[in-house]
Amino acid sequence: MPNLLAEIGSQVAFVNTYHLVTHPGPEIIEKAGGIHAYSKLPIPLMSDSGGFQVFSLAQNKRKATVRGEEEALVEKITEDGVTFRSAFDGSLLSFTPETSIVFQKQIGADLIMAFDECTSADIPHKKTKESMERTHRWLLRCINKFRASDKQYLYGIIQGGVFEDLRKESAEFVTKQDVDGIAIGSIANSGEGKTQMQSQVDWVTEYLPNDKPVHLLGIGYAEDIANFVRNGIDTFDCVEPTRVARMGYLYQIQDKKPIVGWKEIDINKGIFKNNLEKVDEQCSCNVCENFTKSYLHHLFKQKELLGYTLATYHNLSIMERFMASIRKAISDDIL
Ligand SMILES: [Zn+2]
Repeated sequence: MPNLLAEIGSQVAFVNTYHLVTHPGPEIIEKAGGIHAYSKLPIPLMSDSGGFQVFSLAQNKRKATVRGEEEALVEKITEDGVTFRSAFDGSLLSFTPETSIVFQKQIGADLIMAFDECTSADIPHKKTKESMERTHRWLLRCINKFRASDKQYLYGIIQGGVFEDLRKESAEFVTKQDVDGIAIGSIANSGEGKTQMQSQVDWVTEYLPNDKPVHLLGIGYAEDIANFVRNGIDTFDCVEPTRVARMGYLYQIQDKKPIVGWKEIDINKGIFKNNLEKVDEQCSCNVCENFTKSYLHHLFKQKELLGYTLATYHNLSIMERFMASIRKAISDDIL
C-alpha cells in the first residue's frame, strides 16, 4: 500500500517518466488529477526526464517483440530529441525537451528533471562534449517550456561524462541557469569504478550551490551515499534497496555509530526455514516487530506476493534509519 511509505518515514519517492509515458500514458494520469491522486502516494514525488531509459535503450541497441516482429526500440536521435517505439504496443513516441516537460507536467510530480542526454564512460571526449552541449541547449528549451510554477520545481542536470574539463564546464553552465535544483547525471550508469565515480562528483563540488537542493541520479549504496553527502549532495535515488528486497536479500544493521551500516542476508537459504528470530534484532520496523525469518523464508519459497512487500518495507526502513543517522551526523558536525 502506498501509505506504507509515509509510515516508513520516506520523505520523497521517485516516479519514472519513461515507464509512465509508455504505460498507462500521461493523459490518463492527468485526468485522474496527477500522480499523487492516481497512485495515492502521500509524500513528495520526483520524476526523471525519461532521458536515462531512452538512452539506455539506444546504447544497448535493445530490441523488443512488437506485434510479433522484433523491432529496435529507438528509431532516431536528433537535435530535436529522440523517437522510439513503445515496447508495450509498438506505438511511436517522441521525447524532446518540450514533450518531456509536458509529460512531467501531466504526471504532476513535485520535483521534475530537465531532458538530458546520458553518456557512458566509454564514449570519447569529442562525442561527450557534443552530447553535453546538446544537453545544455536542451536545458534552455526545458526552462523555456517549463516557466515558473508554484506546483513544480525544475532541476537542471550536469553531464560531461568522465572528463574533468567537461564536468566543470557543465557545472558552470547548469548552475548559472534559472532552475530550482541541480542534479548530476551519468555517474553510475556505465560501470565506472568507485574512484572514477568519486572524481566526477569531486570535480563539480565547488560549483554546487548552497541555496538550492542537489540530487545525484542513480546512486544507492550506503558507502557511496555517505561519501557524496560530504560533497554536498542532498538527495539520491536508486532501485537497489527495493530490487534486492524482491530477490530476498534483506538488510541487517551492522554498525550504528555515527552512521548506520548494513549487510545483506539471503532469506531464500534453507538455514532460515526453522529460524523464529526477527529479520534484524536491531530493527524496530513493523516487519521485524511482527514476523520471523522463518515466515519470510516461507513466503519467498512459496512465491507469496506478501513476501516482496514485507522485504521491501524492511529494507526501506533500514534505509530511512541510515539517512536519519546521516542527518544527525551533519547536525552534530561529525560527518
Ligand atoms: Zn525491520
